[in-house]
This record gives sequence, C-alpha cells and structure tokens, in this order.
Amino acid sequence: MVKKIAVLPGDGIGPEVTEAAVHILKAVAKNTNQQFEFHYGNIGGVAIDEEGDPFPSSTEELCKSSDAVLLGAVGGPKWDQNEPALRPEKGLLAMRKNLGLFANLRPVKAYGPLLDSSPLKREVVEDVDVLIMRELTGGIYFGKHEREQVNGEWQALDTLTYSESEITRIAKKAFEAAKLRDQRVVSVDKANVLESSRLWREVVDRMKTDYPDITVEHMLVDNAAMQLIHGPSQFDVILTENMFGDILSDEASMLTGSLGLLPSASLGDQGVGLFEPIHGSAPDISGQNIANPLAAIASAAMLLKYGFEMEDEAKAIDDAILKALEAGYRTKDIATEQGAVSTTTEMTEAVIKALR
Ligand code: ATP
Ligand code: MG
Repeated sequence: MVKKIAVLPGDGIGPEVTEAAVHILKAVAKNTNQQFEFHYGNIGGVAIDEEGDPFPSSTEELCKSSDAVLLGAVGGPKWDQNEPALRPEKGLLAMRKNLGLFANLRPVKAYGPLLDSSPLKREVVEDVDVLIMRELTGGIYFGKHEREQVNGEWQALDTLTYSESEITRIAKKAFEAAKLRDQRVVSVDKANVLESSRLWREVVDRMKTDYPDITVEHMLVDNAAMQLIHGPSQFDVILTENMFGDILSDEASMLTGSLGLLPSASLGDQGVGLFEPIHGSAPDISGQNIANPLAAIASAAMLLKYGFEMEDEAKAIDDAILKALEAGYRTKDIATEQGAVSTTTEMTEAVIKALR
C-alpha cells in the first residue's frame, strides 16, 4: 500500500533536518513492504518568498490530500519585520487550525548515553519517559481577550472556556496513547480554583470506565510543575489543557538536554497528523550541516506510530537513534568538550546503519 506524505521543509535548518527524516523513512520502506510517496510543499518564510503567503492554498491542498505531514521549521530574521499576516509563524497557526489539530503530543525520554547533558542529576532523569498530551485549540488562548477603562484605570480580561466535547476528545487521545505505553494517565488541572478544571475532572473520571486497564490520577498544576523536576520518572502520560500544557511541555523538554532531540505530533480526530521537531529554524547554524537531525528523525518515528499505526517500525527508528548515540555519534549540540563531532549527514547515516 502506498502512503502519501506531505513534506514541508520550511526555513533555516528545516530543510536539512527534514531531509534526514525523509532518508530514514526511505530506509524503513526498504525494510518493509510499505511504500511512501513524498510530496514537497512550501510553508513559512520560503512560502512568503515564493508564493506570497506563509500557508499557500497549494500547501493546504497538499496536506489535506496526504496521509501525514512532516514539517521542518519556520521563521528567521529575514521575515521578522514583516507585517503580522506575512510572518512565517502565521503559516503554522493557519495549518493547525485548518487541519483541526487539537492534540499536541510531546514525548520526552532520557537517552542513556546523554544523561549527563541534563541539568538535573543522572538518577533523577535516567528513567524519564513521559508523553505530554496538550489540548491545542481551546482554553484561554482561544477565549475573549479584552480591555476596558474602569474607574480611571485599565482592566483586562481573558476568558477560559472548555466544553465537555472538547475535553472528551483530548482525554480520549491521552487514554489511547497510554494504551500504547505504560497504561498510566496523570490529568493535570487547577480544580481547587477553576470551574473549567472541575468539569475537566468530571469528564476524565467518566471516561475511566471505558479504559479499565488505565490508571488515572489527578494532579494540580502547581504540584505537577514541582513533580516534573522532583521525580519526573513517575509520569507516563500527562493530560492537560492548552496553557498548562504549554508551560509544562517546555519545562519537561529541558529534562533530557538538547532541543535537537525532541519530536512532536499534532493530531485531530480524523484526517492528517502533523509531525515536527520542537526546535525552531535555528538560523544561527543553518546551511552548515551541523544541526542535530535526531528530533526530526524521532518525529518521523511518531509519524509512523501515530499516523500510520506502524508501531514496530517506529520502535525500530527509536532503537536506531539510541544505537547511533551508543556508538558515540554526537552532533555539536550534544558533543562533549573532548569528544568528536558528527555532521548532520554523518548522524543520519549512523541511524540508517543502525536500522539495518
Ligand atoms: P522558534 O522561535 O522558531 O520556536 P527559537 O528561535 O526559540 O525557535 P531555535 O530556532 O529552536 O529557537 O534555536 C534555539 C537554539 O537552539 C539556537 O542556538 C539553535 O542553534 C539551537 N538549536 C535548535 N535546534 C537545533 C538542532 N536541531 N540542532 C542543534 N542546535 C539546535
Ligand atoms: Mg526563532
């Protein structure tokens, strides 16, 4: 069967790391009878330059007619002064909204050979393997944002709304993800203060009966922020709303070191998923063949796991990444002072070799 993958390399190091991920997917296809077709499209700054729009309709159509989207990164100094509608980041927001991508997944896992690049102690991070499931299209970021003058001073207002159906669909994603992992969900909220959080708890509790094998715990967000540093290995899946997820996922991303390692997925109910590294376009290192391709490669693994239900092949990629690290390959961002430094292409080759 042929699967169609939309490839949107974007700006800066985007094209370099995306190419690495495409090489890996081609290597996977060779080892299985799955065929992939890669169709390239523009997004971000390059799309502004070539088509006058950060998310051109040609790209939208490409995404909608594909089985998954693989993205690099968008943005760079060249477009920073553009008017808001012509900023590269607009392309990404337009795409998420357009494709109904309400669930953002960020796995954070400790790689044994890199434990010393974490700012935390080895023994705290060595068993870390957490997936943050963040609601992406609701909550306070999508509420009312208003200001008015009251008694001679400005008053500002932001509203936080969640409906049962919005909570149900993201909770379902978390439960389903936990099934493929360690069967544990921690739902994070602020139910001692917020009504939206109390509704969140009710909905999550109601859903537990559909997933008898999954353990569910509720945790207040302030405690969760502390526990992520104090004992991050206690978590399997963290389910949370948009703003809490924004904050906690950045906190969690630092547990295991470099931005250049961490993948993400954004999923909707049906239709295509979007898979991309969490790092940006890194203009300071672009075009030098020194970017770490592992975040993009791990994003390709997520594409197989969550986009195509190819769990074994996804695991094979994750194992190959670990093997390349065990063999001592290090790009500049994760190199030690005395150790050798690999280029983007050398690291990619090492993963492909380990995959065979
Ligand atoms: P954005 O605003 O697009 O989210 P940013 O400007 O906050 O991104 P990045 O572009 O991710 O940040 O870069 C932050 C730093 O991390 C830069 O110094 C960059 O070189 C480095 N970096 C990011 N990704 C990688 C990578 N894959 N390999 C090596 N270094 C990276
Ligand atoms: Mg940036």
